[in-house]
Amino acid sequence: MSTAAKTRSRAVKAPKVTDQPLFIDGKFVDSASDRTFPATNPATGEAICQVAEADATDVNLAVQAARQALEKGPWKTMDAADRGRLLYKLADLVEKNAEELAVLEALNSGKIITDARGDLQGVVNTFRYYAGWADKIEGRTVPVRGNFLSYTLRQPVGVVGQIIPWNFPLLMLAWKWGPALACGNTVVMKLAEQTPITGMRLAELALEAGFPAGVINVLNGYGETTGAAIVAHPGVDKIAFTGHYETAKVIQKAAADTLKRVTFELGGKSPNVVFADADLDQAVQGAFHAIYFHGGQCCTAGSRLFVEEPARKEFVQRLAEKTKERRLGDPLDESTQQGPQVSQEQMDKILGYVQMGQKQGARLVAGGKRHGDKGYFVEPTIFDGVKDDMAIARDEIFGPVVSVLPFKSVDDVIERANNTHYGLAAAVWTKDIDKAHCFAREVRAGTVWVNCYHVVDTTTPFGGFKMSGQGRENGEAALDHYTEVKTVTVKLS
Ligand code: ADP
Repeated sequence: MSTAAKTRSRAVKAPKVTDQPLFIDGKFVDSASDRTFPATNPATGEAICQVAEADATDVNLAVQAARQALEKGPWKTMDAADRGRLLYKLADLVEKNAEELAVLEALNSGKIITDARGDLQGVVNTFRYYAGWADKIEGRTVPVRGNFLSYTLRQPVGVVGQIIPWNFPLLMLAWKWGPALACGNTVVMKLAEQTPITGMRLAELALEAGFPAGVINVLNGYGETTGAAIVAHPGVDKIAFTGHYETAKVIQKAAADTLKRVTFELGGKSPNVVFADADLDQAVQGAFHAIYFHGGQCCTAGSRLFVEEPARKEFVQRLAEKTKERRLGDPLDESTQQGPQVSQEQMDKILGYVQMGQKQGARLVAGGKRHGDKGYFVEPTIFDGVKDDMAIARDEIFGPVVSVLPFKSVDDVIERANNTHYGLAAAVWTKDIDKAHCFAREVRAGTVWVNCYHVVDTTTPFGGFKMSGQGRENGEAALDHYTEVKTVTVKLS
């Protein structure tokens, strides 16, 4: 099916990576237990380095440092504009070191180097965007009844626990640090256990940028231990989490004990709807990108591909043709178009869904197998003749597997697009402005794309309806989740 990248010399060299410490209170330290775990290269399955594993003791130290920095350190009294300057400085340092960071990201996450470079630009954009916000977070004066002056202050929520996944390690870090720091919070972040390296390098750059000790703390470890300890800690005021909705349920329950604020960015099973009147060249290209970008390891992946019946057959054929040309291989080779899935576990899960799809009667049109015998590669896969209630049409597979679902009318497709507990993203391809806007209004999703896909910018709110999330990241909307509103009322004589 898909072709292997020809053997060629790499344009980019894999660096030697040293063992990774934790970053607590402005210092790089070993974990209290001295325990470590390996970081793996998913293109080969080989270990890259060892990583310090934080437990509740390390979490406690990080939270204490963050609390101290919030309440006593220079961060508390710093001018808002100066917080912005630190974020600008960090953006400049990321830009200066972008190639090194992109290579590390590709090495550890399996993301292809060209995508990793794109992510790094997103990181820089995010830090600059929120740097600009730092001194524009304003309260209001309120026309209260009586002879009083009432005004509001917007103050930091406090110590924020941030727990991120492995699919966009640095970009997710930036989406969380940017608004949190612009609003004056302090941060205890846990990186994903699959991708523990690049966030630690960013901690180093934050130190170089001049963030005071304790403002940013970065930990590594597993979800059920390190992550759970952050969620349970009474010194943490808010949890910002990106990951699976089942994990979010556990976090929400655990956070209830201390009534922490929570924001969640969870998964999706996004409907990508192609009407027969669409520009089919664009739509085929768009549907291909929608599902196969980053090997389908995106919460917004266009995994339910609804195609209007008259166009379906040709559409599927053209999509299948394109999968044959896809070059899978070394993420550090610039000609590679698709890297490995992040782990053996993910690869096995995806291949399990492929089997289930066949068993439940869907027609496998392309792909469906592991690619090669080293690393965790999965061929770009297409199922046609998928029914709405099949597992491959309902569950988030998080891999390069698309389900093609035929439809007959606007109303039919809107109802079926909404028949999911997810609501992260949706797209529609049509030349009919009326259909496009009706779909955009009616679909229950946090982001809707018209004649495009995966266009996500730091300036626009991003998040989910239903079980795809709570709250919004990016844009001005994120600031609401990182500030508390305080009302001050003054009696006037
Ligand atoms: P994914 O399927 O993307 O790995 P997860 O929700 O399992 O999604 O993981 C996302 C992040 O949540 C990771 O950093 C992981 O370690 C963390 N995590 C997993 N379980 C928990 C938990 N019980 N409490 C806190 N964090 C967790």
